[in-house]
Amino acid sequence: MRIEVPEKAEKIIDALQEHGYDAYVVGGCVRDSLLHRSPADWDITTSATPEEVKKIFPRTVDTGIQHGTVTVFMDKEGFEVTTYRIDGEYEDGRHPKEVIFTPSLKEDLRRRDFTINAMAYNHRTGLVDIFGGVEDLKNKVVRCVGEPQERFTEDALRILRAVRFSAQLGFDIDERTQEAARELAETLKKISAERIQTELVKLLVSPNPQYLKKAWELGLTKVFLWEFDRAMETPQENPHHCYNVGEHTLKAMEAVKPDRLLRLTLLFHDLGKAETRTRDEKGRDHFYGHPAQSEKIARTVLRRLRFDNDTINKVGKLVYWHECPWEADPRSVRRALSKTGTELFPILLEVRRGDIMAQSGYHLGEKQQWLDKLGEIYQEIIRHKECVSIKDLAVSGKDLIDAGMKPGKEIGATLEKFLEIVLEEPEKNTKEYLLSLL
Ligand code: ATP
Ligand code: MG
Repeated sequence: MRIEVPEKAEKIIDALQEHGYDAYVVGGCVRDSLLHRSPADWDITTSATPEEVKKIFPRTVDTGIQHGTVTVFMDKEGFEVTTYRIDGEYEDGRHPKEVIFTPSLKEDLRRRDFTINAMAYNHRTGLVDIFGGVEDLKNKVVRCVGEPQERFTEDALRILRAVRFSAQLGFDIDERTQEAARELAETLKKISAERIQTELVKLLVSPNPQYLKKAWELGLTKVFLWEFDRAMETPQENPHHCYNVGEHTLKAMEAVKPDRLLRLTLLFHDLGKAETRTRDEKGRDHFYGHPAQSEKIARTVLRRLRFDNDTINKVGKLVYWHECPWEADPRSVRRALSKTGTELFPILLEVRRGDIMAQSGYHLGEKQQWLDKLGEIYQEIIRHKECVSIKDLAVSGKDLIDAGMKPGKEIGATLEKFLEIVLEEPEKNTKEYLLSLL
């Protein structure tokens, strides 16, 4: 079995070998190569200690020196080179208390999470697969290296990683690994929000975001995303729908391209339905005001999981407007753009498209035509550079002052009024006309 290792990684391995050390590419890149997928990055594992690695290569950065990791730069490209190690005892299921270097590749592979991630390769030795990784790749299963109970107890994040890898690869999770995951699900609460965030996002932008259901079945979402558990218990008796809120959420994520903002928005767009549901006398459910409630939940959860402010604000806004409650005519689209901004609007159309794809077929054709129309009108507005915000107005605050207005609140109010006029009739956006109104 031969793996095409990039030239620069190859050079690093050669140099380490020439100095008498062992070195291999390892982990994700070996797995992905065997699957004929292109690896994101090439990690190297070696018997050389960090100090020894630094002596060999002129340009290195101590990225995780306490864990034995040095980044070696070849031209501008960095490669993580990590010394063979045994992770000492784990502290409260979070990080190893201490890291012990070892001369044994086998020991290094044994500390890794899953068999498919525990293979190493170099041209001299070929593939090193001690735990049956190739077999598990063939059978499409994610399986812990060693005893699942022990491995999840050492680091509870691995429980969520199992679901993440199964979603990325379209694999099942081995039965015993699942059992241990279910049993130890609660221990995920010891894991930092940042680490959960990383794995959750990878799961969501994978080809199978609907595998979030697996995380729910195993009791994982209950620990860090219990709002989703509520959605799985919220029915939608309504001709527009054929799934409960949770199942609809999964379908909607599946219906959009694997983009972080899109998938996060669809994850949250309907979570406010649990609290806003009312059933009328005909037995139909309604969810008045759910977008605002969903926005609130989105912001709370994203903050809890330590997402950055830019993401929180964008997702919050997209969730709030996810229904695109606008008529398909130029006037209402300009009005919409004045609220959402021109950047988020086209994303909203994709959100809404995913949303309706995950509803019942009821009036589906009309809903799609309406969305197409919104998109066309949007394109027209952009092409004609029509004014949809105060900053696009033909007059500025300074123009108003030059025309004799006193600086202060009134300036802003006047510009707001001008915008109202121009949103109705874009041809009125001229300096001459607007100043004549004063
Ligand atoms: P990706 O393509 O997402 O980067 P990856 O397999 O490279 O996938 P990483 O999270 O980058 O995943 O980790 C690199 C390797 O380090 C893994 O393949 C695995 O061998 C090991 N590893 C990472 N995190 C853990 C962990 N929590 N417990 C045990 N081993 C781990
Ligand atoms: Mg990686």
